[in-house]
Amino acid sequence: QHQEEPKQKAAKPKEKPSSLCKTPPTTIRSKNTGAQFHRGIFLGEGGFARCFQIQDENGNVYAAKTIAKASLTSAKTRAKLLGEIKVHQSMDHPNIVKFVECFEDDVNVYILLEVCSNKTLMDMHRRRKRFTEQEVRYFLIQILGAVKYMHGRRVIHRDLKLGNIFLDHGMNIKIGDFGLAALLLSDTDRKKTICGTPNYIAPEVLFGKEDGHSFEVDLWSVGIILYAMLIGKPPFQSKEVNLIYKKIKAIEYEFPAEIKISPEAKDLIQSLLNKDPNARPSLDQIADHPFFHGEMPSHLPSTCLEGVPHWK
Ligand code: ADP
Repeated sequence: QHQEEPKQKAAKPKEKPSSLCKTPPTTIRSKNTGAQFHRGIFLGEGGFARCFQIQDENGNVYAAKTIAKASLTSAKTRAKLLGEIKVHQSMDHPNIVKFVECFEDDVNVYILLEVCSNKTLMDMHRRRKRFTEQEVRYFLIQILGAVKYMHGRRVIHRDLKLGNIFLDHGMNIKIGDFGLAALLLSDTDRKKTICGTPNYIAPEVLFGKEDGHSFEVDLWSVGIILYAMLIGKPPFQSKEVNLIYKKIKAIEYEFPAEIKISPEAKDLIQSLLNKDPNARPSLDQIADHPFFHGEMPSHLPSTCLEGVPHWK
């Protein structure tokens, strides 16, 4: 008996009384330009937006991140959305989800993005549990390229996690969701807001240090992502959020004896999960780490979404 192929089925939006938008009409008309779009299948939803496939009059297909205007009541959520649009709009890199345009109709704001048809690393991780070191090298080098590009433009992502790392049809990494990204005003500017996703938050953010945090929070998250891809779950995973925070502050995690990973992978994880942000390796140092001396595929087959790839 073959497993059901989940990719062929469109996800069904759950109708629930929340601030999430209702399913938009089949024809969406931009109030800004008058252009018309045909709404397609539902792609997924987050805490803030629902995403639908959408097609323009020339047949180009995009992912439309759709936000109900009714949910933008507070100045804070409006500022968050404007910040996300402003930062994302300025990004242009092969491993960052391409921002196409944004427009509104009477009820929603639509952010048109490049479609990532193979979903996120989180979806792949749920099915696979663990990735091979070859796959991890392939993913990680692309993640590093995108993060280097962002940091070079003074943008800290601040919410790097498996669920925000998308895969296009060719299994290329596309980092998305700039909802928490911060654009630093100068080279010495620092950030003080406590934000992120519990499992991925850096200790300096939790300690709420006087002088704030900076780019190194993304390096910490890269360490968490690396651990999760190889071990099968994030290092500080716990049922209780407060316990997660306690473990992060104490850097309390282990490498389960039953899971084999190379000493190089272990060394790289340990150096990234350093309490001292300044002691974490730079993006170039990570790319030069002996972990990358191992085999690195030039592309991945999409069959690895479901199972361990058979290398030819
Ligand atoms: P939120 O800001 O509310 O968390 P996300 O940006 O995470 O919203 O998007 C919600 C969901 O929509 C994602 O988990 C994913 O399933 C889907 N999605 C978002 N962007 C894309 C995209 N570019 N291509 C395909 N699906 C997407």
